Amino acid sequence: MSNVNTLNETHDLALKSWVGSANQTNSDFPIQNLPFAIFRRSGSSEEFRGGVAIGDQVVDLAAVDEKALFLGEAATAAKACSQPTLNNFMGMGVAYASALRLALSRALREGADKSLESCLIAQSDVEFDLPATIGDYTDFYTSVHHATSVGKLFRPDNPLLPNYKWVPIGYHGRSSSIGVSGQTFHRPVGQTKAPDAEAPSLGPCKRLDYELELGIYIGQGNEMGDAIKLDDSDNHVFGFCLFNDWSARDIQAWEYQPLGPFLAKNFASTVSPWIVTLEAMAPFRTPWTRDAADPQPLPYLESGANREQGAFDIKLEVLIQTEKMRVENQQDKSVSLSNFSYSYWTVAQMVAHHTVNGCNLKPGDFLGSGTQSGPDYEESGSLLELSRGGKESIDLGNGESRTFLNDGDTVVLKGWCKKEGAARIGFGEVRSTVLPAKI
Ligand code: CA
Repeated sequence: MSNVNTLNETHDLALKSWVGSANQTNSDFPIQNLPFAIFRRSGSSEEFRGGVAIGDQVVDLAAVDEKALFLGEAATAAKACSQPTLNNFMGMGVAYASALRLALSRALREGADKSLESCLIAQSDVEFDLPATIGDYTDFYTSVHHATSVGKLFRPDNPLLPNYKWVPIGYHGRSSSIGVSGQTFHRPVGQTKAPDAEAPSLGPCKRLDYELELGIYIGQGNEMGDAIKLDDSDNHVFGFCLFNDWSARDIQAWEYQPLGPFLAKNFASTVSPWIVTLEAMAPFRTPWTRDAADPQPLPYLESGANREQGAFDIKLEVLIQTEKMRVENQQDKSVSLSNFSYSYWTVAQMVAHHTVNGCNLKPGDFLGSGTQSGPDYEESGSLLELSRGGKESIDLGNGESRTFLNDGDTVVLKGWCKKEGAARIGFGEVRSTVLPAKI
């Protein structure tokens, strides 16, 4: 059994790093975080390789491997991280990730010998690639608030379907169009039909939206036929990132019945570069509760550990930057603030449900949590909800307003964890921009 959900010396609030920027208040990447990414120097033809964030620097893990700075499992893990994707490292399991985290924590703390100094590269000098080859991508629908609001818009008399409170609902998405922060994409073209139109027509999407989601990378996989038990799921989850699951609402409304999302969702999805490991998340686990008036989970989705610490307290924010804001150097406009702890199902329940039929997950497989809207309007994780189905426009505070996204709009998602007695850790950001339709 792993120790990824218990606190250890790497979480100690008192730890400081000899990398000064890591000790600044509100740094996303203090020594207690140590998230992983795939990077190289910007504009270079270097091989992409694994890195770990510390303050405003990246620890180049290929350099750590080459200089043989670590021993044992940490050295084996650093070698796996010198490859252009993290899939092999993810598949080695939590013991290796944990050993590397401990070695990095000890080598980066104040008082250490600074042997890693020659392995540091400024984050401002690097570019990122997808951290893993994502073989399969599954999108869940775990916010009951989002499911109810969206259901009301699509089916006013029947918003929440009866299976919602029993089954962690999901669908198999498309991985080929998942890109890393900085991704741009053309406004999708598709078939839509206005309610009063006689027939559908083809044209650029008129209701382009974002979705505020948490992304989950699978670590060690499972053999086909073997389910991952709820309380074993921590041994199969590598870590979390921010995820913007772009959605074409007008295409979605026309195509989604009876088999669910298709072209409304598969044209682009964007991940943040950094993956915060499950071990780094340990201080921010919280109890998971199910309203007593709601159906209680079936036994395979129920356990004491899941009740006690299955949820995660992660603040999630959406900001919009329009073309005008860019030109006039204005600040991005924050439009919503939510929290992953509102999720109706936990990550462990998603993993247990995904595999209960014997489906095999593989290292680097990716789960979207579904749009994380909270109970309040200000916590809406999509424009569909903020604009109440396109009926109300959102004031951006600079003379501009939106119901859905315009060409040139950039959407930025941020996430962070903060609580008394623990170091604040952040996810960085994911940012991507809508280009005009190709017609
Ligand atoms: Ca989604």
